[in-house]
Amino acid sequence: MTRILVKKQYNRFPPHGFAVNQMASLIEMLAISKVYGQGNGVTKALDNLDLTVEEGGFIALMGPSGSGKTTLIHIMGFVLKPTSGKYLFKGKDYGEASEKTLLENRRRIGFIFQSFHLLPMLNVRKNVELTAMISGMRKPEREERVMRLIEQVGLREKADSKVYNLSRGQMQRVAIARALVNNPELILADEPTANLDSENRENIMSILERLNRETGVTIILATHDEHVANKCNRILYLENGRLIREA
Ligand code: ADP
Repeated sequence: MTRILVKKQYNRFPPHGFAVNQMASLIEMLAISKVYGQGNGVTKALDNLDLTVEEGGFIALMGPSGSGKTTLIHIMGFVLKPTSGKYLFKGKDYGEASEKTLLENRRRIGFIFQSFHLLPMLNVRKNVELTAMISGMRKPEREERVMRLIEQVGLREKADSKVYNLSRGQMQRVAIARALVNNPELILADEPTANLDSENRENIMSILERLNRETGVTIILATHDEHVANKCNRILYLENGRLIREA
């Protein structure tokens, strides 16, 4: 039974460093639906969706604009509550969780956005550090960790530069360091390479690949780019709020 499931899920290749029988699920979604609006203005963004994401996975979500990718990412990241269905994260159901519970759990997730969402007037170090400050990390640990992450994304020389002076590729690298600062259990990236040229796209994808391989952190990204999706170990295709196939 398990073998069949695994074979079905990994018709590309299994996540780095994981033997098939070691894999545990990080996320289980059961009959998840999300409806926006009321009365005549209702949109069904997700329609009875079932999905399992294994720990250590590197997963691409593809599908036309409006197919539900961002909504799915927001539910996975405790930003939105599903209208119905079960959302299990490490075995615990958050489908009916309160706003307070969602907010508390949001810090378990590292977010990366298409348009970076940085504070351009602050330097690289401060942009990364702010997230750690908000979560209450103490100063010595925080400063050490921030510099280590800035080095990890290759921006040591830029640590004191204002973000508005950086290239777009460098900005996205700052955003990756920020996403990692609280040691997330999951990284969610919504079109992380859409505003980048091909060289920077390659650079960002190799940083994400290395992270997934070396730390085992699960990464889920939405993309329109086949080239980006092909670097992942699962590609899930959405259409009209449903998962229509997997590669
Ligand atoms: P994608 O990321 O694939 O473009 P989205 O999850 O953004 O898809 O959107 C799925 C559907 O839900 C679309 O029809 C979109 O217009 C609708 N939608 C998304 N967010 C909202 C919202 N806040 N209010 C109303 N409709 C929304």
